[in-house]
Amino acid sequence: MSWRADILTLFPAMFPGPLGESLAGRALAEGRWGLKVTDIRDYGLGRHRSVDDTPFGGGAGMVLRPDVVDAAITAVADERPLIVLTPRGVPLTQERVRALSEGPGAILLCGRFEGIDQRVIEARGAEEISIGDYVLSGGELAALVLLDAVIRLLPGVMGHEQSGVEESFSAPLLEYPHYTRPALWQGRAVPEVLTSGNHAAIAAWRLAQARQITQARRPDLYNQYIATGAAAP
Ligand code: SAM
Repeated sequence: MSWRADILTLFPAMFPGPLGESLAGRALAEGRWGLKVTDIRDYGLGRHRSVDDTPFGGGAGMVLRPDVVDAAITAVADERPLIVLTPRGVPLTQERVRALSEGPGAILLCGRFEGIDQRVIEARGAEEISIGDYVLSGGELAALVLLDAVIRLLPGVMGHEQSGVEESFSAPLLEYPHYTRPALWQGRAVPEVLTSGNHAAIAAWRLAQARQITQARRPDLYNQYIATGAAAP
């Protein structure tokens, strides 16, 4: 069975959105992954299908009710991991993305307003994931980001399987820079080694570039890399 994504959202029209295009869109059409979108408002209360209420303890904004969210989860829950997108979550990593891609799929719960009542998150044992240290207006774009990262790793989705192995974070180094034709553009030549045909020299140059850029931009990753012993000659 193909990898299955369920989305719980107040804005179902945001899906598949960009995932209906390119690699992910083709893979969706080919049935390599499946998408089901549930409108949380279908489980809203009363004539107005109300989904939120004011926060206990005061403060601005509204909070998604636990009873409403729980009913929406019940409609789709199974053995797949339940993930809540939230800036309070554990940062998403390529390691987690890869593990998710090797599983049966995921159920992604998108918050809105001030967020979701914490009790339903705890009661359901949901995993809280953040896509970065900034605040979006809703979890939908975060869910799309997570899905995009997972889908490209599913079998048969990427044209060249190797491209998933060499790229940033797999090492754990950021990737070396890329160049294509023309060899001279606006007075800028591509690094000479890349046109040398010397594969060992190219590999050594790329590794040196990857190390240099990682050390400059992401000392946290660089220290991890050094700790793995991979840097030793
Ligand atoms: N009051 C929340 C806080 O300060 O942590 C922010 C709520 S935000 C306006 C509304 C929703 O957007 C969140 O419930 C979450 O689903 C989503 N969201 C915002 N930033 C996110 C991020 N960096 N990663 C994942 N989801 C995010």
